[in-house]
Amino acid sequence: MKVVRSKRELRAALDERRSGSVGLVPTMGFFHKGHLSLMRRARSECDTVVVSSFVNPTQFRPGEDYESYPRDEQRDIELARATGVDLFFAPPVDEMYASDHCTTVRVRGGLTEVLCGDPHRRGPEHFDGVTTVVAKLLNIVQPQRAYFGQKDAQQALVVRRMVRDLDFPVEVVVCPTVREADGLAMSSRNVYLSPDERQRATALSRALEAARRAAANGVVTPAEVLAVARGELAAAGVEPEYLELRSLEDLRPVESLERPALLAVAARIGRARLIDNVTLGGAEL
Ligand code: AMP
Repeated sequence: MKVVRSKRELRAALDERRSGSVGLVPTMGFFHKGHLSLMRRARSECDTVVVSSFVNPTQFRPGEDYESYPRDEQRDIELARATGVDLFFAPPVDEMYASDHCTTVRVRGGLTEVLCGDPHRRGPEHFDGVTTVVAKLLNIVQPQRAYFGQKDAQQALVVRRMVRDLDFPVEVVVCPTVREADGLAMSSRNVYLSPDERQRATALSRALEAARRAAANGVVTPAEVLAVARGELAAAGVEPEYLELRSLEDLRPVESLERPALLAVAARIGRARLIDNVTLGGAEL
């Protein structure tokens, strides 16, 4: 595995191996098994696997955890190497953004203004940061496939819409959420949790799973499904930032569970802002 820091080095390394397909796994580093599952999937489907590790400043709001976001590059490099990654792209900020960078890729259409994109939460500008950096990475790497986790379902849907609308010649592959044994979705931010908070954090996946089971067992209205999830959260003393059922296609609120739906939750537990989701009715992203 080669570690590269500049776009020029990355392109040179890709040019050397340009035969066959290229898969890109964009990340912010501090790897866990969720990241590794994306790398493994890419490894099984592509001839060359590129992992980018870049804590993208433009997707953080002032006051969010950009400076304190966990980082351990040496460990990440070892894990990526052991997972069969070919190129580890970890550019400094000024390699990704010229000092006079002034272009933004913005997806709207109701996809980025809701859930995490609500102006009272991370805001649609969070997703502007995501789509801009992902567009840049797609142009730099020019992969045939790019791998994202269902854990960040809204992000995956927003990226997929950008790729469709701007005709990026890439297939967006969404991989299942990897969880701890007790159900907690793996996240780099889980290191912020104290032992007590770590215990309470399991309420998120428990609530989603209870609601999913209720829907599978005949609970039919969105309000009833939401009430099941809300009950589990309340029992653990967790007040969600949001708990919503939305269309898997366009993130509009759903009036019935006959169409593919996403049940998504966000909650602040101690210092950590955690998100999780499930699809209902066996639908896939
Ligand atoms: P991040 O480094 O948190 O920006 O995540 C990089 C990629 O890994 C994104 O596509 C995430 O959706 C994905 N990812 C993060 N956590 C998980 C998880 N628990 N299971 C599957 N994919 C994940």
